[in-house]
Amino acid sequence: MDIVVQKYGGTSVGDLEKIKQVAARIKQKKESGCRLVVVVSAMGKTTDNLLSMAYNLSSRPKPRELDVLMSTGEQISISLLSIALNEIGCKARSFTGQQVGIITEGYHTKSKIADINSSIIIEELEKDSVVIIAGFQGVNGNNEITTLGRGGSDTTAVALAAKLGAVCEIFTDVDGIYTVDPRIYPNARKLECISYEEMMEMASLGAGVMHPRSIEIGHKYKVPIYVAMSTGEFPGTFIKESDDFMEKTVITGMAVDNNDAMVTVINLPYSTRSISRIFQSLAERHVNVDMISQTTPVNGLINVSFTIPKNDLAAAMDGLEELKPELGPFGIDTDTAITKLSVVGMGMRTQSGVAARMFTALSESNVDLKIITTSEIRISCAIDPKDQNRAVTAIAKEFDL
Ligand code: ASP
Ligand code: MG
Repeated sequence: MDIVVQKYGGTSVGDLEKIKQVAARIKQKKESGCRLVVVVSAMGKTTDNLLSMAYNLSSRPKPRELDVLMSTGEQISISLLSIALNEIGCKARSFTGQQVGIITEGYHTKSKIADINSSIIIEELEKDSVVIIAGFQGVNGNNEITTLGRGGSDTTAVALAAKLGAVCEIFTDVDGIYTVDPRIYPNARKLECISYEEMMEMASLGAGVMHPRSIEIGHKYKVPIYVAMSTGEFPGTFIKESDDFMEKTVITGMAVDNNDAMVTVINLPYSTRSISRIFQSLAERHVNVDMISQTTPVNGLINVSFTIPKNDLAAAMDGLEELKPELGPFGIDTDTAITKLSVVGMGMRTQSGVAARMFTALSESNVDLKIITTSEIRISCAIDPKDQNRAVTAIAKEFDL
């Protein structure tokens, strides 16, 4: 019998009524004849509320304690869902990440799944139970509870599907993946399918919906992923290997991200070493850098700009200040008013002129660019948030999104 891993997000289990609805849906799926593993997130805003309690007590709570705290959210939802399932005559048992051997590595609050000991899950499936597993959490080599980063339940689900050779169904509050977030661009289209590569770019560029690491794992282990709404029967979106048809589309989607800040280091001595010191100091603080640009040297000095998540700005500033005695009295400018627009498409690999089309559309709409970056299948630029609507519409029209 095939194994299916289903994941239900926080909104889908947001209250007891919704938990009952999810339980009914699981029971139906189980009766259709499959072995079922279900991953759930914490109910509604639980994780946010837990974090705000911690930050009420301290401005810098220890990440280890945050992990112990945040992992409780999922423990509530797995037990309640299991209770609801047993109540309607569907045998179920709930497990924390630690109980089913989800082993992680890396830092507290940003850990990665290293391995899963699937024997307990298989044993439970053989007893014909629905196995309900807490998303977002695991245990590291020091027996410490860890979490996988916000939104990490998707990653738990895809990693389990990879381990169990299962398909993965992600149920959420949106009915699939859109060319552009419909809250930002209401004319966006729902995609029938999207390649792992494109989805990975979209997810890490702030398109929401899926945790980037989940797509990375899905791609690596070729897990078929289906994203759909947890209520109703609307067709969702398949995330899968790209095919000829997908390669023909130049641009599949656009991600819009308002969570980044831009930092410019001004009048830095022109040497590769000073650049390497700056990015070393960011790396030591686990600051994730996205776009980078450097000016040509004038009088032996350069400016270097880069974008980072707004949340990491304080850590980045600490690091840069510490470098001043070593690298000289450089200036630092920060800009938190930036919107990052990224167009993503496999077709870019083979078709030229995409950048020209994008920048022409922006120039005709009088949008100024602050910084640009590209990869094989994406072009990103940062603009002023006040230009966002005009820029999004211009690009969406140009590429028929
Ligand atoms: N509950 C966690 C969060 O809110 C994990 C998840 O929802 O996937 O980020
Ligand atoms: Mg999510």
